[in-house]
Amino acid sequence: MNKNTTSCFRVSDDIFCLRCKEKNVVKNGRTKNNKQQYYCKICSYRFIENYTYQAYKADINQNIIQLT
Ligand SMILES: [Zn+2]
Repeated sequence: MNKNTTSCFRVSDDIFCLRCKEKNVVKNGRTKNNKQQYYCKICSYRFIENYTYQAYKADINQNIIQLT
């Protein structure tokens, strides 16, 4: 439980690209919903901060299912 909380905090504090997992991303304005948008300098991938966090959580859940 403690381990999980720590990794969640790290993601919200440290943005990385969904596609190439590099942290070489820049802010790219905001969406209509006023969410921060990011742009990856490595692979030119655009994504939203909130979406990154949810995708990461989903990935963890999948790993847990595979392990059990
Ligand atoms: Zn990328």
